[in-house]
Amino acid sequence: AVPGKHEYSIACMPADGIGPEVIGAGVEVLKALSEASGAFKLHFEDYDWSSETYKKLGKYIPDGGLESLKKHDAILFGAVGAPDVPDHISLWGLRLAICQPFQQYANVRPTRILQGTESPLRKAKTGDLDWVIVRENSEGEYAGQGGRSHVGMPWEISTEVSVFTRHCVERLIRFAYEVAQSRPKKHITVVTKSNAQRNGMVMWDEIAAQVAKDFPDVQTDKMLVDAMTCRMVLQPQSIDTIVATNLHADILSDLAAALAGSIGIAPTSNLDPTRQNPSMFEPIHGSAFDITGKGVANPVGTFWTASEMMRWLGEEEAADRLMQCVEAVCGNGIMTRDLGGNAGTKEVTDAVCAEIRRSY
Ligand code: ATP
Ligand code: MG
Repeated sequence: AVPGKHEYSIACMPADGIGPEVIGAGVEVLKALSEASGAFKLHFEDYDWSSETYKKLGKYIPDGGLESLKKHDAILFGAVGAPDVPDHISLWGLRLAICQPFQQYANVRPTRILQGTESPLRKAKTGDLDWVIVRENSEGEYAGQGGRSHVGMPWEISTEVSVFTRHCVERLIRFAYEVAQSRPKKHITVVTKSNAQRNGMVMWDEIAAQVAKDFPDVQTDKMLVDAMTCRMVLQPQSIDTIVATNLHADILSDLAAALAGSIGIAPTSNLDPTRQNPSMFEPIHGSAFDITGKGVANPVGTFWTASEMMRWLGEEEAADRLMQCVEAVCGNGIMTRDLGGNAGTKEVTDAVCAEIRRSY
């Protein structure tokens, strides 16, 4: 992107399952937003990397593929995973194969109860649950370290080694504090499991305490991850920004999405905060083959994702507008089945596009 030019190149990678349906909806809504506002231009380039490519060619990313992605300002990603490819192959083959070399070390997951939607928490309503989870996205429990010996024998041993480096933990916690500082409540909960995991998690606690000193205006509290799950259910109002490891935050953010109403609404951003590489934006949900091709996938997770992408690109006004329009549509009861409505992907998408046009 050229500063001040408001023109962006987006790599579009729908991949598997409902990915193409929700990304198609997301692109439609972004085009409506660009046309109606006249404030920015988007150029989309399609990338058909998926589990289909893997089954044909034995790899997800063609030679030179990563290099070609670098020229874009952002990557809009659908979902990867197929019934006939083991999950650890698809995840490492495409998603992590982009996140890791592109140093997208911060994974940011906002959650709130959108207007017109319901939380399974009996008393929670819009405004009672408004969180951002900042997830370490480069190492930790998903470092891929370890191995197996004596495979298949009764005495088989496997190790799954978590790797925590001061450099990576510190840059992530610092980023999370900046996120907390930018939000009205200026509150962060540092989540670890330092009572049982006495090496890496203790280092996390120490680094968090050091970083906290540089953010005197941010209020810090600490929780063990198991206790945190209870607090999310029992006292959702007491939480704002959460920072946690790759595994812990992965689990907490599925819980968060479900508490907000559906996994179908939640977005996630894989950010390279140094902006040396394009960042990647995706709905939190997976390929969901059970509903693929039926026209019922909830596109709201992708709309919120698109909003987060526009915010990262510097288009705050467009980002806010898009979410206002999404909430207006939900508020009118136009929702997919996972949110208790009876609209399809297309009806929700058309309604959001119409709302965008009306709003300018
Ligand atoms: P993956 O293996 O790629 O993670 P998955 O099949 O496990 O995919 P998820 O996307 O993780 O599926 O979601 C679990 C279930 O939630 C799906 O099977 C589907 O029924 C439902 N679901 C997920 N995303 C959506 C959505 N966008 N709209 C409606 N329902 C959804
Ligand atoms: Mg899944």
